[in-house]
Amino acid sequence: GKINIAIDGPAGAGKSTIARMVAGRLSYIYVDTGAMYRAATWYFQSLGIEPEEEELVLQTVKDLVIELIPGELGQQVLVNGQDVTEQIRSLAVNAKVSRYAQIEGLRGRLVSLQRQMALRKGVVMDGRDIGTTVLPDAEVKVFMTATVEERASRRYKEMKEQGEISLKQLEADIAERDRLDQEREISPLRQAEDATLLDTTFMSIEEVVETIVSYCKI
Ligand code: C5P
Repeated sequence: GKINIAIDGPAGAGKSTIARMVAGRLSYIYVDTGAMYRAATWYFQSLGIEPEEEELVLQTVKDLVIELIPGELGQQVLVNGQDVTEQIRSLAVNAKVSRYAQIEGLRGRLVSLQRQMALRKGVVMDGRDIGTTVLPDAEVKVFMTATVEERASRRYKEMKEQGEISLKQLEADIAERDRLDQEREISPLRQAEDATLLDTTFMSIEEVVETIVSYCKI
């Protein structure tokens, strides 16, 4: 039968690339929960609502519909029907997403959506709190890390075409998001007790995918 796979870890550890490839290998559905927090962030920013305005966030979140549509060139992200796939990767969203992600009512809403998506199993879900909070019963749990220098340098290579950010700036951005994600009160970034730690600093993408697929033969 099908199982659920939870992949957590800090920013830029390569979770989404790996999770997508593992899902492809198993013909499973890939769910990028970071994209959901990013979509919510884009939505509040488009309305001019700051993360400090919790009441407003909780009122307007009721009108927020997020859709993740799998496609050949990666998933498409829609907010109330509008394609925001590119916008959610902007520096403005990067800079604030971990602030909005601290809001309990917003997390509650996204977590219940994420659980619904996994009800029928056969899901590879990546995020920060999947193994600990969203899918504590996932059959396979992986906590992926790499040094902050390695993570920043991978992101840098991805973003170089945009040419708008330096390696040092990316490293600072990632370190700050890690800090906020680890220190928040509600479901902080943590390795679940029953998760396998995978340090990918010196591993190739193929090696990481093979390792995780091998955990799934149970
Ligand atoms: O995975 P990604 O880097 O796109 O996630 C963006 C941000 O969304 C994270 O830094 C974190 O603040 C938030 N997030 C979260 N819980 C998740 C996934 C992402 O709080 N499950």
